[in-house]
Amino acid sequence: MAIPGEAGDVSVPPAYVKIAVIGVGAVGATIAYALMISGLASEILLIDVNEARAEGEAMDLMHGLPFVRPVTVRSGKYEDCAGAQIVVIAAGVAQKPGETRLELVKKNVAIFRQMVPQITAAAPGAVLLVVSNPVDILTYATNKISGFPARQVLGSGTVLDTARLRTLIGQHLRIDSRSVHANVVGEHGDSEVVVWSRASIAGMPLADFCRQRGSPCEPGFQAEITQQVSRAAYEIINRKGATYYAIGLGVRQIVEAILRDQDTVFTVSTLLHGQLGIDDVCLSLPCVVDRGGVDAVLEPSLDDGELAALKRSAALLYDTAREAGL
Ligand code: NAD
Repeated sequence: MAIPGEAGDVSVPPAYVKIAVIGVGAVGATIAYALMISGLASEILLIDVNEARAEGEAMDLMHGLPFVRPVTVRSGKYEDCAGAQIVVIAAGVAQKPGETRLELVKKNVAIFRQMVPQITAAAPGAVLLVVSNPVDILTYATNKISGFPARQVLGSGTVLDTARLRTLIGQHLRIDSRSVHANVVGEHGDSEVVVWSRASIAGMPLADFCRQRGSPCEPGFQAEITQQVSRAAYEIINRKGATYYAIGLGVRQIVEAILRDQDTVFTVSTLLHGQLGIDDVCLSLPCVVDRGGVDAVLEPSLDDGELAALKRSAALLYDTAREAGL
């Protein structure tokens, strides 16, 4: 006889994991692709105002079925979100060359006012993961429009910027980026803040690591990397028109942390309630992510310059939300 909960036990049905992706342009389709490869989902539902596009993406992905773990990828309508554990929102107008993320705000808030009520009516228990830009403002808009508890609504925030930072530090210091602990906080955009004062390699300050390893820590390398991180989206958009692979991989990690109740720390965007003196703004701080979304917002020790920059970032986002009528 099988032991309850172990292999061979058929008394507990396997969990049916359904994830909806709204907006299947470059970003949404790449997220769906990354989720399909991950094997995390039983069903991936694709929704787009351009129904033919959603159908086409679903067909293309489904033809790869023999190469992955069983999953159904299909296109549908908002009511089909019923039963989804997570709804990823990547719909909207993409950033144009030279355009700041905040300039996109009004166009995309209007789309969210029409879209979010349809999602919440169908899937009142789902965690909503916002990816569309400007992601902090749209995470705030989703909070307000949905009326969901704040923990249930999060944005990808500076997860991508933090990944870029760890990649560049790792390349510069010749160390696996997974061994780099460093965060970008604040807005996912021009006012973001790199927390250099706490950057470490496995707990060692960068200067100590460089001394021991003989790695290059020349003056100015931090400013150079900060510049590359904040310019990354513009540089990629100038060359290929959009960014989608790295964010696709980042969203897959966040989704996994939610589905598996992992308590993983990500710099996701979340509604702050007084943390570090910031209130009623969505922005990124390190957050513990579990099955309900954001379980806790961590308050890292920042130096005076970083804290002042974070507060400027928060003030900018607060004002922008007001300008957008939120
Ligand atoms: P895209 O133009 O390729 O795709 C957007 C899709 O949204 C299109 O398929 C469009 O038909 C759909 N759409 C528009 N209005 C809709 C509506 N009302 N309902 C449903 N679908 C709708 O753009 P993209 O390159 O895929 O980028 C999507 C979003 O992701 C943009 O806002 C972009 O700035 C953002 N983005 C965020 C990050 C991040 O780190 N958070 C990274 C890259 C891109």
